[in-house]
Amino acid sequence: MNILVLNSGSSSVKFQVIETDLDLIAKSGDKKLASGIIERIGSESIISFKAEGNPPVKQTAPIRDHKIAIDKIVKWIISKEANVPNIKSLKDIHAVGHRMVHGGEKFTRSVMLNEQIIRDIEDCIELAPLHNPANLKGVYAVNDIFGNGVPQIAVFDTAFHHTMPDHAYLYAIPYQMYRRYKVRRYGFHGTSHRYVAYRYRLLNNLPKKQVNVITLHLGNGSSVCAIKNGNSIDTSMGMTPLEGLIMGTRSGDVDPAIIQFLSHKEGYSLAEVESILNKESGLLGISGLTNDMREIIAEAEEHDDRRAKLAITMYCYRIRKYIGSYIAAIGNVQALIFTGGIGENSDLIRAKICEGMEIMGIKIDQDKNKELHGKEGLFSDDKSAVALWSIPTNEELLIARDTVRCIEKAPLP
Ligand code: AMP
Repeated sequence: MNILVLNSGSSSVKFQVIETDLDLIAKSGDKKLASGIIERIGSESIISFKAEGNPPVKQTAPIRDHKIAIDKIVKWIISKEANVPNIKSLKDIHAVGHRMVHGGEKFTRSVMLNEQIIRDIEDCIELAPLHNPANLKGVYAVNDIFGNGVPQIAVFDTAFHHTMPDHAYLYAIPYQMYRRYKVRRYGFHGTSHRYVAYRYRLLNNLPKKQVNVITLHLGNGSSVCAIKNGNSIDTSMGMTPLEGLIMGTRSGDVDPAIIQFLSHKEGYSLAEVESILNKESGLLGISGLTNDMREIIAEAEEHDDRRAKLAITMYCYRIRKYIGSYIAAIGNVQALIFTGGIGENSDLIRAKICEGMEIMGIKIDQDKNKELHGKEGLFSDDKSAVALWSIPTNEELLIARDTVRCIEKAPLP
């Protein structure tokens, strides 16, 4: 089957076309056929498309909304110019898998979309006002472009974390706030945490129940997940993706009393403070320069910039605190798994996180670590009790596979 995987963000749409089916999944023989992104939807958009084996196509064009963006993507995929193998018309795209950020308590696994389920996802908008509306625009656009003929599947970022116990997902606020409004920790990046835990399991030939690891998704958004017996038992993001680690522009954990304090001192509304915590904080807020870790490292190394160095130290320190607490939560941790743009590519950040953690059984092999950039590999010292892995994430592949499993009514792992 040829699966179109769509990740519709607030001003961008990313896609991949993946050939897969149950046999190919069993043999890990799935094939990426094409990929791309349209960025800056709503103004002069930047379009980058690539069919495997062909050179990338880059152009700019004014693209008004998500529907026009997805129409452009689909027209390109089926075009002679793209020359995607075995795809010549709409009929050759057999299903669409959507990344959906928030599934609330209702969606604990991937689902085939129908009108009722779309309404139920719309009901979760309140929990993810920044993300779900954009994800849903992708669904509406596919309905318009394909008609109702193509099966559509939603894969939720929150679903992997539904196994968290109540003592981990509840906030210590009056219980009726949970009853009334479902205020609780949901966690995000679940597709990524699930994928790298699954890869670890394959690489080590372990049954799911024997996987006890900490997965670190370190990118522009960052989160940690404690996985015990193959299930998520805790994670650093909360009711929204604002909680937990320091991120590109998000503060992560702060004392909630700061909100009222800043509002009073600066005359900000609550929405303005929330926007500062989401968009002007994290690496950007501390460094005063950028949210981009590569640039922060360059500033620290080339110009000895004090605040760039501080941002790196704070970023790693927060992660180390979470690792310590998740070792306590899991008990017998076999491995730390690093993924995401920073986790997969930055040997410097991985080394700083693992520094001085021998007491917890974590010992890095500096040479192996330096060789791993965007590649799968082990970088712990032979004597380390906890294995250290870098495993590039592949959320699109997992979405394509869940799409096939939903269509074939096969069990979802
Ligand atoms: P993501 O959101 O997963 O795409 O990750 C984006 C983040 O990864 C940005 O902060 C990038 O600067 C960072 N990143 C990518 N490559 C590197 C690298 N080689 N060293 C440090 N950070 C990197």
